[in-house]
Amino acid sequence: MIIDIFVRGLIFMIFISGSTVISYYATRLLAFLIPSTFISDIFLWSGTVLFSALLLMGVTYYYVYRGFGTQADIIRRVPEPGNRVAITFDDGPSEKYTPRILDILKEKNAKATFFMVGMQVEKNPELVRRIVEEGHDAGNHTYGHITVPNSPPPRLAAQIMRTNLAILQHSGVYPQFLRPPRGLYDMRMRRLAGLFGQNLILWSLSSQDWHPRATPAGIARRVLEKASAGDIILFHDSGSLLGKEGANRQPTVDALGPVIDGLRAKGLEIAGLEETIIPKVV
Ligand SMILES: [Zn+2]
Repeated sequence: MIIDIFVRGLIFMIFISGSTVISYYATRLLAFLIPSTFISDIFLWSGTVLFSALLLMGVTYYYVYRGFGTQADIIRRVPEPGNRVAITFDDGPSEKYTPRILDILKEKNAKATFFMVGMQVEKNPELVRRIVEEGHDAGNHTYGHITVPNSPPPRLAAQIMRTNLAILQHSGVYPQFLRPPRGLYDMRMRRLAGLFGQNLILWSLSSQDWHPRATPAGIARRVLEKASAGDIILFHDSGSLLGKEGANRQPTVDALGPVIDGLRAKGLEIAGLEETIIPKVV
């Protein structure tokens, strides 16, 4: 454990110092290219800090959304899509928003996948039952929406097991899919997914409905502009930016109908992950 923290710390330090050096020279290059009267130490150092921050954000963004190296076990897009896309909802089920989302999906005859938080599952067991009864797929999103890479091994395993059991108990269905909160996973989570017979699912297109200023029109526009065959599209039916619940998901609810119609108008078919798309692990 201590060695692990030490190694991680070391990698982090190497990365920070590397990015600082790169940023310093990038700033000097910039200084070289613009008229010299502007150049001062303050310019150099604030430029370095700014470049470093951008670099750190860029690498983090890349890691979260793409990962490093070949990771055949992590599914970000539908493997053999045809003209299919998948719609997914994270962080629920929510008493307030999930029923309305289910109504819209039923009205439009569309199947989705719900990555549920175990705590919410135990609070709203009837919604878990309804999700499964109405033909949607159940996924595990950990018990307490934890940050996976920070969690000690027993806690991580317990978070996944407990949620699998809660979903199984309330719906009669064992969740085939696992999605780490915020898309942050590590080797342990990949091994646990294999052990528990689950596919690790991320996403290829975020609706960015988590944004505090998200609007229904903005969500729909973003999704419909970007969506193409094979996309796994991310929405949220509960959750919040920092806490475990409490965000306003009304924009997501209001965007859903237009999103489904718009995807179909583009010739895309909306499919559940389990039946049509992902081969079962077990
Ligand atoms: Zn989440």
